[in-house]
Amino acid sequence: MRHRIPPTHPRAKSLIIREKLVGGFSKGIVVPEGLIAHGRGEAFDYLLGEKTTKYAYEAEIVAVCSLLLSNKSIISVNGNTAALCAKELVNLGNITKSKIEVNLFHKSMARSKAIARILKKENLGEVLGLNTKSRTAIKGISSNRKYVDKNGIMTSDTVLVALEDGDRTESLVKIGKNVISIDLNPLSRTAIASNVTIVDNIVRAIPNMIKISRELVNSDRSYLLRQIKNFDNIQNMNKSLKMMRRGI
Ligand code: ATP
Repeated sequence: MRHRIPPTHPRAKSLIIREKLVGGFSKGIVVPEGLIAHGRGEAFDYLLGEKTTKYAYEAEIVAVCSLLLSNKSIISVNGNTAALCAKELVNLGNITKSKIEVNLFHKSMARSKAIARILKKENLGEVLGLNTKSRTAIKGISSNRKYVDKNGIMTSDTVLVALEDGDRTESLVKIGKNVISIDLNPLSRTAIASNVTIVDNIVRAIPNMIKISRELVNSDRSYLLRQIKNFDNIQNMNKSLKMMRRGI
């Protein structure tokens, strides 16, 4: 870390997250645009009181149920998410038997490889999204983000995304994927298009989901299905929005 942040500083947690992203930027993992995207997220988090709300936790439970019920779930990782919680993402992948794919909006092989190295340091065996031979494109996306792995997102049933671009989320839903998103902005196209939207900071959402996964990993399928059936994503997002209004 470039600067030592005193633990007593009233904004310590938020400053530590920023330092992690700046560190990721120095290592070539995070792009400048990623820092700006984080700023948008911070503003919404401020309105939530920088806490996981009851509603976000409900969405996190349903997201875990979806991952546990999937035949092939993929966790999509980009620069910001790797810089913020690589270890936790690998951990969640292990418990829910989800594979991890590197997928970048601002694509570069060097950056993908740097992200893969960080994930491997956390003992991840296979990192998808790097092999150009197994690369394929999702229809309807013009940006480089259309490229996905044939052995990963393309043949998956459920995809967990965070800090995702709306075009890609909409396209993933259109081609039949069950999309879980972590997005602090309940008004984003990603949040609206997803099947399950977690309005929470990824640094809180993933550890919560690890805890929930440990609790639910041996549950009956019928129990997991019931949680999904009883969940209304739009209603849940509206409740998060109400919390933000109250925050103002
Ligand atoms: P969309 O294309 O979906 O309408 P956007 O253009 O705002 O949304 P991006 O800038 O591509 O989306 O992605 C950033 C999104 O991620 C923002 O909605 C932001 O609120 C959210 N975000 C940023 N940092 C975090 C974080 N740490 N945890 C969760 N969400 C975050």
